[in-house]
Amino acid sequence: MRNVDVVFDGVIQVLRSLSLEVQPGQIVALMGGNGAGKTTTLKAASSLLAAERGVVASGQVLLLGADVTNADPGDVVLGGAVQVMEGRRVLQHLTVEQNLRVGAHFRNDKAEVSADMAEVFEYFPRLKDLIGRTAGFLSGGEMQMLLVGRALMARPSLLLLDEPSMGLAPKIVRELFERVAEVSARRGMAVLLVEQNARAALGIADYGYVMENGRIVLHGTRDELGSNEDIREFYLGLGGASGRRSYRETKHYKRRKRWLG
Ligand code: ATP
Repeated sequence: MRNVDVVFDGVIQVLRSLSLEVQPGQIVALMGGNGAGKTTTLKAASSLLAAERGVVASGQVLLLGADVTNADPGDVVLGGAVQVMEGRRVLQHLTVEQNLRVGAHFRNDKAEVSADMAEVFEYFPRLKDLIGRTAGFLSGGEMQMLLVGRALMARPSLLLLDEPSMGLAPKIVRELFERVAEVSARRGMAVLLVEQNARAALGIADYGYVMENGRIVLHGTRDELGSNEDIREFYLGLGGASGRRSYRETKHYKRRKRWLG
Protein backbone atom coordinates (compact mmCIF):
# COMPACT_ATOMS: atom_id res chain seq x y z
CA MET A 1 0.00 0.00 0.00
CA ARG A 2 1.41 3.36 -1.01
CA ASN A 3 0.31 6.60 0.63
CA VAL A 4 -3.24 5.35 1.04
CA ASP A 5 -5.99 7.68 2.29
CA VAL A 6 -9.34 6.09 3.12
CA VAL A 7 -12.50 8.16 3.36
CA PHE A 8 -15.97 6.98 4.43
CA ASP A 9 -19.19 8.68 3.38
CA GLY A 10 -17.21 11.23 1.39
CA VAL A 11 -16.07 13.12 4.50
CA ILE A 12 -14.75 10.86 7.27
CA GLN A 13 -11.04 10.35 6.71
CA VAL A 14 -9.82 7.27 8.57
CA LEU A 15 -6.46 6.40 6.97
CA ARG A 16 -3.85 9.04 6.27
CA SER A 17 -1.08 8.44 3.79
CA LEU A 18 -0.59 4.88 4.95
CA SER A 19 2.21 2.86 3.37
CA LEU A 20 3.06 -0.73 4.17
CA GLU A 21 4.49 -3.74 2.45
CA VAL A 22 4.33 -7.52 2.84
CA GLN A 23 6.77 -9.70 0.91
CA PRO A 24 6.07 -13.29 -0.19
CA GLY A 25 6.68 -15.67 2.71
CA GLN A 26 6.78 -12.79 5.19
CA ILE A 27 4.54 -12.38 8.24
CA VAL A 28 3.80 -8.76 9.03
CA ALA A 29 1.94 -7.65 12.15
CA LEU A 30 -0.22 -4.55 12.16
CA MET A 31 -0.74 -3.42 15.73
CA GLY A 32 -2.43 -0.56 17.55
CA GLY A 33 -5.21 0.26 19.98
CA ASN A 34 -8.97 0.39 19.43
CA GLY A 35 -9.98 2.57 16.52
CA ALA A 36 -6.43 3.06 15.22
CA GLY A 37 -7.50 1.94 11.74
CA LYS A 38 -6.21 -1.63 11.54
CA THR A 39 -9.39 -3.21 10.19
CA THR A 40 -9.82 -0.36 7.72
CA THR A 41 -6.29 -1.01 6.47
CA LEU A 42 -7.12 -4.67 5.83
CA LYS A 43 -10.35 -3.72 4.07
CA ALA A 44 -8.46 -1.26 1.88
CA ALA A 45 -6.01 -4.02 1.00
CA SER A 46 -8.75 -6.52 0.09
CA SER A 47 -11.04 -3.88 -1.42
CA LEU A 48 -13.90 -4.40 1.03
CA LEU A 49 -14.55 -0.71 1.68
CA ALA A 50 -17.27 -0.07 -0.89
CA ALA A 51 -19.92 -2.01 1.07
CA GLU A 52 -19.45 0.55 3.85
CA ARG A 53 -19.38 3.56 1.54
CA GLY A 54 -15.63 3.78 1.94
CA VAL A 55 -13.05 4.43 -0.75
CA VAL A 56 -9.31 4.66 -1.21
CA ALA A 57 -9.39 8.37 -1.99
CA SER A 58 -5.73 8.61 -2.89
CA GLY A 59 -2.71 6.35 -3.02
CA GLN A 60 -2.33 2.88 -4.43
CA VAL A 61 -2.88 -0.75 -3.42
CA LEU A 62 -0.66 -3.17 -5.32
CA LEU A 63 -1.01 -6.95 -5.26
CA LEU A 64 1.86 -8.85 -6.89
CA GLY A 65 2.46 -5.77 -9.01
CA ALA A 66 -1.17 -5.38 -10.14
CA ASP A 67 -3.05 -2.25 -9.17
CA VAL A 68 -6.10 -3.36 -7.13
CA THR A 69 -7.01 0.04 -5.69
CA ASN A 70 -10.82 0.04 -5.24
CA ALA A 71 -11.01 -3.07 -7.45
CA ASP A 72 -13.88 -5.56 -7.43
CA PRO A 73 -13.38 -7.64 -4.22
CA GLY A 74 -13.85 -10.85 -6.20
CA ASP A 75 -10.98 -9.90 -8.46
CA VAL A 76 -8.79 -9.30 -5.42
CA VAL A 77 -9.52 -12.85 -4.20
CA LEU A 78 -8.74 -14.21 -7.67
CA GLY A 79 -5.58 -12.10 -7.60
CA GLY A 80 -4.49 -13.98 -4.47
CA ALA A 81 -5.50 -11.95 -1.39
CA VAL A 82 -7.93 -13.63 0.98
CA GLN A 83 -9.15 -12.07 4.21
CA VAL A 84 -10.36 -13.75 7.38
CA MET A 85 -12.60 -11.11 8.88
CA GLU A 86 -13.09 -10.61 12.59
CA GLY A 87 -16.11 -12.11 14.31
CA ARG A 88 -15.85 -15.83 13.49
CA ARG A 89 -17.89 -15.74 10.31
CA VAL A 90 -18.27 -19.44 9.59
CA LEU A 91 -21.21 -20.59 7.50
CA GLN A 92 -23.10 -21.76 10.54
CA HIS A 93 -25.52 -24.22 8.96
CA LEU A 94 -22.95 -25.95 6.80
CA THR A 95 -20.60 -28.70 7.94
CA VAL A 96 -16.89 -28.27 8.48
CA GLU A 97 -16.19 -29.98 5.16
CA GLN A 98 -18.71 -27.82 3.28
CA ASN A 99 -17.19 -24.67 4.81
CA LEU A 100 -13.76 -25.74 3.60
CA ARG A 101 -15.08 -26.48 0.12
CA VAL A 102 -16.63 -23.02 -0.08
CA GLY A 103 -13.12 -21.60 0.23
CA ALA A 104 -12.20 -23.35 -3.02
CA HIS A 105 -15.48 -22.79 -4.87
CA PHE A 106 -13.89 -20.86 -7.72
CA ARG A 107 -11.21 -23.49 -8.38
CA ASN A 108 -11.53 -26.13 -11.09
CA ASP A 109 -8.48 -28.19 -10.18
CA LYS A 110 -10.39 -30.88 -8.27
CA ALA A 111 -7.43 -33.11 -7.44
CA GLU A 112 -5.49 -30.14 -6.10
CA VAL A 113 -8.47 -29.04 -4.01
CA SER A 114 -8.61 -32.50 -2.37
CA ALA A 115 -4.87 -32.36 -1.72
CA ASP A 116 -5.27 -28.92 -0.15
CA MET A 117 -8.05 -30.19 2.09
CA ALA A 118 -5.76 -33.00 3.25
CA GLU A 119 -3.09 -30.36 3.92
CA VAL A 120 -5.55 -28.30 5.99
CA PHE A 121 -6.33 -31.43 8.06
CA GLU A 122 -2.62 -31.95 8.51
CA TYR A 123 -2.30 -28.44 9.99
CA PHE A 124 -5.50 -28.71 12.01
CA PRO A 125 -6.17 -32.40 12.81
CA ARG A 126 -9.05 -31.35 15.06
CA LEU A 127 -10.97 -30.24 11.96
CA LYS A 128 -10.69 -33.72 10.51
CA ASP A 129 -12.32 -35.14 13.65
CA LEU A 130 -15.12 -32.62 13.22
CA ILE A 131 -15.51 -32.97 9.45
CA GLY A 132 -19.26 -33.69 9.45
CA ARG A 133 -20.09 -31.35 12.33
CA THR A 134 -22.28 -28.28 11.83
CA ALA A 135 -19.92 -25.30 11.93
CA GLY A 136 -22.20 -23.15 14.10
CA PHE A 137 -21.69 -25.51 17.04
CA LEU A 138 -17.89 -25.46 17.06
CA SER A 139 -15.90 -23.82 19.86
CA GLY A 140 -14.31 -20.42 19.28
CA GLY A 141 -10.88 -21.93 18.67
CA GLU A 142 -12.24 -24.56 16.29
CA MET A 143 -14.13 -21.89 14.34
CA GLN A 144 -10.99 -19.79 13.98
CA MET A 145 -9.10 -22.85 12.70
CA LEU A 146 -11.93 -23.52 10.26
CA LEU A 147 -11.82 -19.93 9.02
CA VAL A 148 -8.08 -20.05 8.46
CA GLY A 149 -8.51 -23.46 6.83
CA ARG A 150 -11.23 -22.12 4.56
CA ALA A 151 -9.01 -19.21 3.51
CA LEU A 152 -6.14 -21.62 2.79
CA MET A 153 -8.43 -23.60 0.48
CA ALA A 154 -8.31 -20.60 -1.88
CA ARG A 155 -4.49 -20.99 -2.06
CA PRO A 156 -3.89 -17.32 -1.31
CA SER A 157 -0.57 -15.66 -1.91
CA LEU A 158 -1.53 -13.15 0.77
CA LEU A 159 -3.57 -14.08 3.84
CA LEU A 160 -5.12 -11.18 5.74
CA LEU A 161 -6.07 -12.02 9.33
CA ASP A 162 -8.18 -9.68 11.45
CA GLU A 163 -7.62 -10.22 15.19
CA PRO A 164 -7.64 -14.01 15.11
CA SER A 165 -6.64 -14.18 18.79
CA MET A 166 -9.73 -12.37 20.03
CA GLY A 167 -11.43 -14.32 22.79
CA LEU A 168 -9.19 -17.38 22.51
CA ALA A 169 -7.16 -19.01 25.28
CA PRO A 170 -3.40 -18.30 25.02
CA LYS A 171 -2.64 -21.94 24.27
CA ILE A 172 -5.06 -21.99 21.33
CA VAL A 173 -3.64 -18.69 20.03
CA ARG A 174 -0.11 -20.11 20.17
CA GLU A 175 -1.18 -23.22 18.28
CA LEU A 176 -3.08 -21.24 15.64
CA PHE A 177 -0.18 -18.83 15.10
CA GLU A 178 2.34 -21.67 14.88
CA ARG A 179 0.25 -23.28 12.14
CA VAL A 180 -0.04 -19.99 10.25
CA ALA A 181 3.74 -19.56 10.42
CA GLU A 182 4.20 -23.12 9.19
CA VAL A 183 1.93 -22.60 6.17
CA SER A 184 3.59 -19.30 5.39
CA ALA A 185 7.03 -20.92 5.39
CA ARG A 186 5.88 -23.96 3.43
CA ARG A 187 3.87 -22.18 0.75
CA GLY A 188 5.79 -18.89 0.66
CA MET A 189 2.51 -17.26 1.61
CA ALA A 190 2.56 -13.65 2.79
CA VAL A 191 0.56 -12.87 5.94
CA LEU A 192 -0.74 -9.53 7.16
CA LEU A 193 -1.85 -10.05 10.73
CA VAL A 194 -3.92 -7.44 12.56
CA GLU A 195 -3.58 -7.82 16.31
CA GLN A 196 -4.11 -5.89 19.51
CA ASN A 197 -2.24 -8.70 21.20
CA ALA A 198 1.26 -7.44 20.36
CA ARG A 199 2.97 -10.16 22.35
CA ALA A 200 1.30 -12.93 20.34
CA ALA A 201 1.73 -11.07 17.04
CA LEU A 202 5.44 -10.41 17.51
CA GLY A 203 5.83 -14.05 18.45
CA ILE A 204 5.42 -15.01 14.78
CA ALA A 205 5.88 -11.80 12.81
CA ASP A 206 9.08 -10.92 10.96
CA TYR A 207 8.14 -7.27 10.79
CA GLY A 208 5.65 -5.01 12.52
CA TYR A 209 3.82 -1.74 12.00
CA VAL A 210 2.17 0.24 14.78
CA MET A 211 -0.82 2.49 14.03
CA GLU A 212 -2.35 5.43 15.84
CA ASN A 213 -5.17 7.63 14.52
CA GLY A 214 -5.09 6.24 11.01
CA ARG A 215 -1.35 6.59 10.56
CA ILE A 216 1.66 4.35 10.85
CA VAL A 217 3.65 5.77 13.75
CA LEU A 218 6.37 3.14 13.91
CA HIS A 219 7.65 0.16 12.04
CA GLY A 220 10.55 -2.22 12.27
CA THR A 221 11.69 -5.80 12.50
CA ARG A 222 10.42 -7.96 15.30
CA ASP A 223 13.72 -7.48 17.16
CA GLU A 224 13.77 -3.71 16.66
CA LEU A 225 10.25 -3.38 18.02
CA GLY A 226 10.55 -5.98 20.75
CA SER A 227 13.87 -4.88 22.20
CA ASN A 228 13.21 -1.16 22.58
CA GLU A 229 11.87 -0.48 26.06
CA ASP A 230 9.98 2.71 25.11
CA ILE A 231 8.35 1.04 22.15
CA ARG A 232 7.31 -1.87 24.32
CA GLU A 233 5.90 0.49 26.95
CA PHE A 234 4.34 3.22 24.82
CA TYR A 235 3.14 1.49 21.72
CA LEU A 236 2.81 -2.18 22.33
CA GLY A 237 1.43 -2.17 25.87
CA LEU A 238 3.90 -4.88 26.73
CA GLY A 239 5.15 -3.24 29.90
CA GLY A 240 8.78 -2.93 30.81
CA ALA A 241 10.24 -2.73 34.26
CA SER A 242 6.84 -1.71 35.57
CA GLY A 243 4.97 -4.77 34.36
CA ARG A 244 2.36 -5.44 31.73
CA ARG A 245 0.04 -2.64 30.65
CA SER A 246 -3.17 -2.55 28.72
CA TYR A 247 -3.53 -0.08 25.85
CA ARG A 248 -5.67 2.09 28.06
CA GLU A 249 -3.07 2.21 30.81
CA THR A 250 -0.39 2.87 28.19
CA LYS A 251 -2.30 5.90 26.94
CA HIS A 252 -2.47 7.39 30.43
CA TYR A 253 1.15 6.50 31.00
CA LYS A 254 2.18 8.23 27.79
CA ARG A 255 0.22 11.32 28.72
CA ARG A 256 1.74 11.37 32.19
CA LYS A 257 5.24 10.98 30.80
CA ARG A 258 4.62 13.85 28.41
CA TRP A 259 3.46 16.11 31.25
CA LEU A 260 6.26 15.16 33.55
CA GLY A 261 8.86 15.31 30.81
P1 ATP B 1 -10.41 -2.16 16.72
O1 ATP B 1 -9.12 -2.71 17.23
O2 ATP B 1 -11.23 -1.51 17.79
O3 ATP B 1 -11.18 -3.09 15.85
P2 ATP B 1 -9.26 -0.77 14.42
O4 ATP B 1 -7.86 -0.32 14.65
O5 ATP B 1 -9.47 -1.98 13.63
O6 ATP B 1 -10.00 -0.87 15.81
P3 ATP B 1 -11.02 0.51 12.54
O7 ATP B 1 -12.14 -0.45 12.75
O8 ATP B 1 -10.25 0.43 11.29
O9 ATP B 1 -10.01 0.46 13.77
O10 ATP B 1 -11.62 1.97 12.71
C1 ATP B 1 -10.82 3.14 12.63
C2 ATP B 1 -11.69 4.39 12.71
O11 ATP B 1 -12.50 4.47 11.56
C3 ATP B 1 -12.65 4.40 13.89
O12 ATP B 1 -12.68 5.68 14.43
C4 ATP B 1 -13.98 4.02 13.28
O13 ATP B 1 -15.04 4.60 13.97
C5 ATP B 1 -13.87 4.59 11.88
N1 ATP B 1 -14.65 3.79 10.91
C6 ATP B 1 -14.48 2.50 10.62
N2 ATP B 1 -15.36 2.07 9.70
C7 ATP B 1 -16.13 3.15 9.41
C8 ATP B 1 -17.24 3.37 8.52
N3 ATP B 1 -17.72 2.39 7.76
N4 ATP B 1 -17.78 4.61 8.49
C9 ATP B 1 -17.28 5.60 9.28
N5 ATP B 1 -16.24 5.46 10.12
C10 ATP B 1 -15.67 4.26 10.18
